Amino acid sequence: MSMADANLLEGGASIEADVCVVGAGAVGITIARELGEAGVRVVLLESGGLSPDEETQTLYDLRSAGYPIRENFMSRARYYGGSCNLWAGRNMLLEPLDAEARPWVEASGWPIPHAEIAGRYARAAAALRLPPIDRFDERTYRPRMSADEKAIFGSGPLRPAISLWAVKPMRFGPAGEKKLRASANVRVLLRASAVRIRLNADGSGVEAIEALTLGRKKLEVRARAFALACGGIENARLLLVSRDKHANGIGNRHDRVGRFFMDHPRAVFGRVLLKKDNRIPLLRGIPLRDGKVQFGIGLTEEAQRAESLLNHYVTLEAEYSEYVAQQYQTFVQTMKVLLRRGHAGSRWKIGRESMSDIPGMIYLLTPKELMPHFVYRWYTTLRRALDPQAGGNARVVVYFCEQPPDPESRVLLGEGRDALGVPRLELRWKIGSEVVRSLLRMQEILAENLARTGLGKLEPGDGEPRFSDASHHLGTTRMSDDPRAGVVDRDCRVHGVSNLYLAGGSVFPAAGHSSPTLTMIALALRLSEKLARETR
Ligand SMILES: Cc1cc2nc3c(=O)[nH]c(=O)nc-3n(C[C@H](O)[C@H](O)[C@H](O)COP(=O)(O)OP(=O)(O)OC[C@H]3O[C@@H](n4cnc5c(N)ncnc54)[C@H](O)[C@@H]3O)c2cc1C
Repeated sequence: MSMADANLLEGGASIEADVCVVGAGAVGITIARELGEAGVRVVLLESGGLSPDEETQTLYDLRSAGYPIRENFMSRARYYGGSCNLWAGRNMLLEPLDAEARPWVEASGWPIPHAEIAGRYARAAAALRLPPIDRFDERTYRPRMSADEKAIFGSGPLRPAISLWAVKPMRFGPAGEKKLRASANVRVLLRASAVRIRLNADGSGVEAIEALTLGRKKLEVRARAFALACGGIENARLLLVSRDKHANGIGNRHDRVGRFFMDHPRAVFGRVLLKKDNRIPLLRGIPLRDGKVQFGIGLTEEAQRAESLLNHYVTLEAEYSEYVAQQYQTFVQTMKVLLRRGHAGSRWKIGRESMSDIPGMIYLLTPKELMPHFVYRWYTTLRRALDPQAGGNARVVVYFCEQPPDPESRVLLGEGRDALGVPRLELRWKIGSEVVRSLLRMQEILAENLARTGLGKLEPGDGEPRFSDASHHLGTTRMSDDPRAGVVDRDCRVHGVSNLYLAGGSVFPAAGHSSPTLTMIALALRLSEKLARETR
């Protein structure tokens, strides 16, 4: 691999490759690595450098005009390694029902069978350095489930929703670089932001990607195939701003680009008072030799079908006193900056003011992230031996919700331009009433279960739940066999453009409730196989 700062290239350079990948996040790095190993010559264009800087991060600024989402610098990182420089590292599987067309969820259904994704989960898990994927199987944990957990999941509409973490969250930058370095076929150009996709004369194929540096140096990459991996929001932006051949942007003849924006709305709503001698080790999370597992409480397929519910799950998190919360907040933020090398220069300070939601923050940064893994394991074992109910018997209920596809939840070109002259986006995130209905029903089901099993009592949340996003940006260039209904086909190729492919969360046609990165990597592997076949 070679890696260079695009500012050092000659102005107006035209570079050739078999495949041009745009965006060096988890997805782009995976594709470049796979193709490089398969003998394909790749140019990987990355907007940022090797560490965060405020000027580049500002290129992501957008106007949020719908349901509020986290500030730019909290929810995306525009430098080598992408948002996985910030991520919490939770991994879950997309479930078979999530990929099905469900009559009660409008516009649901993936055009590819779930097996196409599932068949690549083992390799995707290895890329994320996760424990083997049989650890997603409930049966693996039966011997470790407590009597209380067996009672919750024993019968009825609840089942475990399993999350796995690696020993350390995979930061694709430094780790991915090592593997990429081994590949002579990959050329990484840093500080090169793609600003336009140039189509050929009849608009049926891409001729080149045009890029600019913040120092206004111009370059272009010509290739046989192009894969955009700029994240779930930016992929749509690049299509929308490239208008010289198609007035509404590329792939947008039917006004689908940017629509169906989804995230996983998250709400801290209500609390549970557990019986005194409760034992819920898996629900609290168990450190493993090679990672960590936590059970959430999810809904069975039968329950979703019977009551037309969305796929939600909840976790029961420790409740802290206000004083402890304040101390913890300061400590966590300091550690976060140290461990994650800062968000985007000084702007992370603004985050301090908006992060008053302690349970939400605990989700973002658990002790697991603060300590070396072996210390974390000792700490957990010791703490549980000395004080099995540490944190008290009161637990807050955190809901992780499925957001159904909705064309009115969208990104579109907004007002103003960024420092490179690219039009900025407006984001109209819309959370429909179906989400609230499913959440409230889930709350009732959980309350009934806790009362029936004698494990505790649920105190419902007050009024309507207030959601925050999970930085899972999905759906804006959705996959569909029908060009009138989606932007890419089942091969992730933009309808009507023979050599343009999209990768990452933007192609998800339905979101389920699962943290999406593992599935994005599985899809990236699938796309790499296709591109390797076609361009080798
Ligand atoms: C705080 C936080 C916590 C998270 N926790 C989890 C979690 O626990 N589990 C989970 O599954 N997911 C989590 N996520 C989401 C996860 O980080 C994303 O799903 C993942 O990073 C997406 O990878 P990507 O490569 O598609 O996009 P990105 O990581 O966004 O990478 C896109 C890359 O493209 C570059 N780029 C953008 N525009 C251009 C352009 N025009 N030209 C050139 N380059 C460009 C960017 O600089 C970036 O490097 C979290 C995210 C955040 C922010």
